[in-house]
Amino acid sequence: MAKEDRGDATPFLPERLSLKALREAAAGCRGCHLWRPATQTVFGEGRKSSRIMLVGEQPGDREDLMGKPFVGPASRELDRGLEAAGIDRKDTYLTNAVKHFSFQERGRRRLHQTPKRFEIDACKPWLDAELEVVKPEALVIMGAIAARALLGGSFRVTQHRGELLESDLAPIVSATIHPSSILRQPDEESRVREREAFARDLRVIIEALGQV
Ligand code: SF4
Repeated sequence: MAKEDRGDATPFLPERLSLKALREAAAGCRGCHLWRPATQTVFGEGRKSSRIMLVGEQPGDREDLMGKPFVGPASRELDRGLEAAGIDRKDTYLTNAVKHFSFQERGRRRLHQTPKRFEIDACKPWLDAELEVVKPEALVIMGAIAARALLGGSFRVTQHRGELLESDLAPIVSATIHPSSILRQPDEESRVREREAFARDLRVIIEALGQV
C-alpha cells in the first residue's frame, strides 16, 4: 500500500455540502487504496428529500461496473423486501458504508472481499456527509459492515435486528441484515424465511414513520 493511501476521505470532501458536489468529489477520492483496482466510485443514490436512508456495505461487481449502488443480485432481494414492507424504492436514499468495490481476483472472476476496519473508517466522512445533507427521518443500517461504520464494532445485527435503536444519527434508526445474506442461505426454505424476516424488519421502519 502506498504511503499516500493511508489517510481518509476528509481532504476530498467539497467545501459546500450538496449531493451533487459530494458525488462529484467522491469520484476523485483517493482516501484509501480501494480506488486503485476498482472501476469507479459508487456513490449513494436518491433524493435529498428522501425520508428513509438505507446503508449497505460496499458496491459489488455489477455496481462497480455500472457506477450505481444496489443493481446486482442483492438489489432484487432489497426490492422484494421494500415492496413487501410498502416502501417505494424511489422514496429512499440508498448508499454504502464503503464507496469502492473491494475484491480479490481469481482468474477472470472478482471475488468480493469484506472491507477492513481502516477502509470502513477511511470512507466514513462520505457517509457522515450524506447523512448531514439528506437528514433522513429513518435510517436503516443493513449488515455488519454498515453497523460497524455507524454503530461501532460491538453492535451485533443478529441480536438487535428490527429493533428501534437509541441513536443521534436520525429520529428513527434500525438495523437489519444485508439483503445479500438472503442469497447465501443454503436452501429455498431458508431463503423464504430470511426474506420474510427482512421485510418484517423494514416494516418496523414504515410503522415508526407513521407515528412520527
Ligand atoms: S473506499 Fe472510500 S475512502 Fe477509499 S478511496 Fe474509495 S471513496 Fe475514498
